[in-house]
Amino acid sequence: MTNHELWQAALGEIELNISKTNFITWFRNTDVIKTREGAATVGVPNAFSKEWLENKYNKLILRALRNILPEVKEVEFVIAAISLPELATPGRSTPPRRKETEIVNQSFQELEINKETHLNPKYTFDNFIVGSFNELAQAAAQAITKNLGRLYNPLFIYGGVGLGKTHLIQAIGNEIVKNFKNEKKICYTSSEKFTNELVAALYNGQMEEFKNSYRKIDVLIIDDVQFLSGKEKTQEEFFHTFNALYQNNKQIIISSDRPPKAISTLEERLKSRFEGGMIADISYPDLESRIAILKAKCYEKNLQISDEVLNYIAANIQKNIRELEGALNRVMITLKLSGSLPSLEQISKILTGITSPPSKKISYKVILQAVSEFYDINTSHLINRCRKKELVWPRQVAMFLIREELKSSFPFIGEKLGGRDHTTVMYACEKLNRELQKNESLQQEINLIKERFYSI
Ligand code: ADP
Ligand code: MG
Repeated sequence: MTNHELWQAALGEIELNISKTNFITWFRNTDVIKTREGAATVGVPNAFSKEWLENKYNKLILRALRNILPEVKEVEFVIAAISLPELATPGRSTPPRRKETEIVNQSFQELEINKETHLNPKYTFDNFIVGSFNELAQAAAQAITKNLGRLYNPLFIYGGVGLGKTHLIQAIGNEIVKNFKNEKKICYTSSEKFTNELVAALYNGQMEEFKNSYRKIDVLIIDDVQFLSGKEKTQEEFFHTFNALYQNNKQIIISSDRPPKAISTLEERLKSRFEGGMIADISYPDLESRIAILKAKCYEKNLQISDEVLNYIAANIQKNIRELEGALNRVMITLKLSGSLPSLEQISKILTGITSPPSKKISYKVILQAVSEFYDINTSHLINRCRKKELVWPRQVAMFLIREELKSSFPFIGEKLGGRDHTTVMYACEKLNRELQKNESLQQEINLIKERFYSI
């Protein structure tokens, strides 16, 4: 194996452990340039990256390298001009040759976003697999591309992590670009980016420009709107932008990890605006859909993998399409490096790394953290005595989740949640159990929280 191949394989591993943005920011233009006497030398583009990789990602990098080459005992970083050929030519979407670098570079292609619309051309309806878990959302998405601003406005799509929200809402944008060429001004943004721009505009005294730039848009696509939660000034401005566009029949498309009702500190007027259009959820894909997605990805990547392997992956990764893709990427790296498909036993190891990272142990503290983050309150609010309604509910959810996930005793839970009596905990658990039976959106809410603490 060459140094370069080693690094590509390690990157495949690293990519699964950090966010896409961080991956692109810190690992682009890096490569292993030397391995000698148990030390791997990684070339990085500048001093800033060097420091960051050393301090933040050293362990992760070492672990990833050792998984492939156990004799690596340490990693050092040096500044070196590395530019991978496929990356050095902006705007070229299909590299001339298929090789293993490409596997990882597919992620770097995220950078090929359109400068004006901010859309990534790789997200289209054509490569979006539809199954019962997402068909309502997909149908609504397609319908609006034919009837902008009038059919469903806003279109609000929600669902858990890695289930295709970003893909779908960007597919809407790309479809409109295709159908309308330059006639429609489209803007894809995230609520975080919206917030950052707003803050910058306030700071630089450019609010007028900020407002005008958003008000000229025909189709506004805003991703992960749950991050507006708690930011009053941003919500205020978003509300005005929303109204200005809405009144002019401009299309607005929103995604979030939960339904509007469950975004706790979202202003009522925004919630009711969001609820005034069409709300569609994406749930977990069923087994057939997971297999179909894997097959489609294999086809896209020109990979031949047996049904047995695909079924095995699909059976084991159930709740996140990004992880399905990650598993496939790892299989692909093994295939390319060793020339043969990994055995089911090897695949099972690969999957363990993805679905339950080692050292992951859920404690009651992690559950409290996830619950408080989800409801946008402080963890201390879960423990203190305040009886406000907006705190009582998260507290009951926390009790229920600790009981369900850790099987802790009622007195233990009571003690950890501010010394409450065990009957209070029993009451909360019974109440949640009862409500879960009849309330589907509560089920969804609980799942989203679970997803959160399993990813903390
Ligand atoms: P979310 O925004 O919900 O966290 P993404 O849209 O980023 O999820 O999807 C995660 C990955 O899974 C992306 O690479 C996306 O292309 C892929 N994906 C999600 N849903 C589908 C689908 N229905 N068909 C094909 N690929 C999908
Ligand atoms: Mg997303």
